[in-house]
Amino acid sequence: MSITTTSTTFEVHLTESPTPADERAAKLVAPRFGTVFSDHMARITWSVDQGWHDRRIEPYGPLQLDPATAVLHYAQEIFEGLKAYRHADGSVWTFRPWANAARFARSAQRLALPVLSEEDFLGSLAALVATDVEWVPSGDESSLYLRPFMYASERFLGVRPSAAAEYLVIASPVGPYFASGVQPVSIWVAEDFHRAGAGGTGAAKCGGNYAASLLPQQEAYALGYDQVCFLDASTNTLVEELGGMNVFLVHADGSVSTPELSGSILEGVTRSSILQLLADAGHEVRERPVPLAELRAGLEDGSVAEVFACGTAAVVTPIGRLGGQGFDLTVGDGATGPVTSSVRNELTDIQYGRVADRHGWLRRLV
Ligand SMILES: *Cc1c(COP(=O)(O)O)cnc(C)c1O
Repeated sequence: MSITTTSTTFEVHLTESPTPADERAAKLVAPRFGTVFSDHMARITWSVDQGWHDRRIEPYGPLQLDPATAVLHYAQEIFEGLKAYRHADGSVWTFRPWANAARFARSAQRLALPVLSEEDFLGSLAALVATDVEWVPSGDESSLYLRPFMYASERFLGVRPSAAAEYLVIASPVGPYFASGVQPVSIWVAEDFHRAGAGGTGAAKCGGNYAASLLPQQEAYALGYDQVCFLDASTNTLVEELGGMNVFLVHADGSVSTPELSGSILEGVTRSSILQLLADAGHEVRERPVPLAELRAGLEDGSVAEVFACGTAAVVTPIGRLGGQGFDLTVGDGATGPVTSSVRNELTDIQYGRVADRHGWLRRLV
């Protein structure tokens, strides 16, 4: 059996032990983020000699890696994250996957990995979701989280770009990110650690950036905060982003700011969608350097009314408290602000097909 999408064909090798329907139904009830996986995965292999080949869907399962596989030593790896949403009529859609395909290509270039074409990227998502469509949940704010990734698979300890790579997509059903409704989080501003620096890999979606963010995240948690916010590594004065989410400020005059893409900030698809939706709603939106000193002063004098973080997994997360060395400030009255709520609702309404897709952001998968 094979699945042909727009221009690529995936050979389908179905698992001999699919999850029974009742077991799957139980797993789809309130799964903890990233812990439940569907029955299959998409895969494409690359080598210097053959290029991309062997497009297939195969049973989900462990990878066998030689201990000398390059990725285990030098972290030559990239990933993506997007979701498949079930609409009320049963159809399944994804959101701006072209943007993820383009970002995956940019990440590959920065990490000296081979570029995967948009056709292969979109084709792999469509083939996997068609195979595992019963794993797309239909509950409120539920979705099938898709995780494309690529790693250097050559068995070689020399330091140079790998001559072989594997691309895979796995799928994980997820429930609402906030089980008890959207709750504001507290953020610790790290001043002793950075996730990325000028000329580094901050604008690429690679595992190494996340590895660098874990210790400061742990430190923030120990201090009683939920997440960490990073400053720019060059001056240690400009707000950049959280470990995996971009940041927005809503000013008391209704204008909105987000840190400009400095080269060390990851360009979120959610960020760019929110910039568009806020502009559509008549807000003045600015991408600009955001000094921490200005943010602190704005929270103290009330000229910054709301702060929120955004990314595919949690969509929009209100920030209710911001602390760092020598300060601990409440954002507004600490509750979710009106602009934060309305942009969150607008975006999810588009993703779940509850309002018109006026920007052509959705792509049907099944
Ligand atoms: C993935 C990611 C984001 C959010 O990007 P989305 O495309 O909106 O999901 C923000 N920052 C970092 C560091 C990320 O890795």
